Amino acid sequence: TPHDTAAAAGDPQDATAAEDARRAELKALAEQAGRDLEDASALEILKWAADTFGRRFCVTSSMEDAVVAHLASRAMPGVDVVFLDTGYHFEETIGTRDAVEAVMDVNVITLTPRQTVAEQDAEYGPRLHDRDPDLCCALRKVKPLEEGLARFDAWATGLRRDESPTRANTPVVGWDEKRQKVKISPIARWTQDDVDAYVTEHGVLTNPLLMDGYASVGCAPCTRRVLAGEDARAGRWAGRAKTECGLHG
Ligand code: SF4
Repeated sequence: TPHDTAAAAGDPQDATAAEDARRAELKALAEQAGRDLEDASALEILKWAADTFGRRFCVTSSMEDAVVAHLASRAMPGVDVVFLDTGYHFEETIGTRDAVEAVMDVNVITLTPRQTVAEQDAEYGPRLHDRDPDLCCALRKVKPLEEGLARFDAWATGLRRDESPTRANTPVVGWDEKRQKVKISPIARWTQDDVDAYVTEHGVLTNPLLMDGYASVGCAPCTRRVLAGEDARAGRWAGRAKTECGLHG
């Protein structure tokens, strides 16, 4: 399997060549799996990931709901679930994280940015999210995730094609060029109704804000409730020229 092929070479040049070869192998594997698993169920996709990558596979969760974490724990009990604590989350989001950790058969890993919000405010000035949200997301989301994912070959997300036009072409398994990792979106083909049905059937934990007018939950300063007829992500960075935080775009 790919995770057995890393070279234990002493020569740094050999090690780099071995790493390049391994990445090429992972990329080919991801692209092939994307084609093979397009019609597979979410659970089948996650079982493939567990069999293929073992402990070098994790799930990332924004704690909007625990659907993918729940599916992944069925495919691989004790699976690592990575949560990014930006320091700007709603209390309800942190509460959902704590509840997931308490009741589900998963290992929650909480990543934090290098700077606290107070330290960031001291260096860049207060409310960076209003003035330069791309920089704020880079510091508080993109960088910590990159560091947190370093030891994994593959990560699963809850991206869905129907969430927004920017996500319409999400493959169920693809190659994350930016991070050089296999990116798995087991519920890419699901609709909101599929998610709701799974939540009801399995009693999956969800963020209480979803019952309070929020369709997509991110950091408190950058999330508002959505209006009737808006797509699920319309409440994220509303009124700003930004639709993605850099984790997926
Ligand atoms: Fe900062 Fe907003 Fe991005 Fe959160 S979503 S990291 S507060 S800009």
